[in-house]
Amino acid sequence: MKIRTHPRIGAIRVGDEVYSYRYHLFARVEAVFPAAVCVKIAAIDRMHPLELTLIPQLWRADDIENLSICRYCGGRENLLLERETGIPFRVCERCRIVPPQEHSYVQWRWW
Ligand SMILES: [Zn+2]
Repeated sequence: MKIRTHPRIGAIRVGDEVYSYRYHLFARVEAVFPAAVCVKIAAIDRMHPLELTLIPQLWRADDIENLSICRYCGGRENLLLERETGIPFRVCERCRIVPPQEHSYVQWRWW
């Protein structure tokens, strides 16, 4: 059986910031797999409540959004923070010029 890489995983690199729609958490990618990424989540240690422990977790590609690339074109250059949604999505300068209501049209035309 051939393992196919999830289309969203192809753009993710180690060290990228991802947001999980499932857990409503942000994390940095530690390892990339064909259909999931490994992240480390800070959790409070039960034995030592003042210490944070890093717990590795697997997040499925379908549940995550890569925040280190432009959310419209996937570019990595000249990224700016988009603050409308509460999730720190990034948008590149080129996509920022396009008014938000026309974003879907631009996406449709490029893909
Ligand atoms: Zn862009």
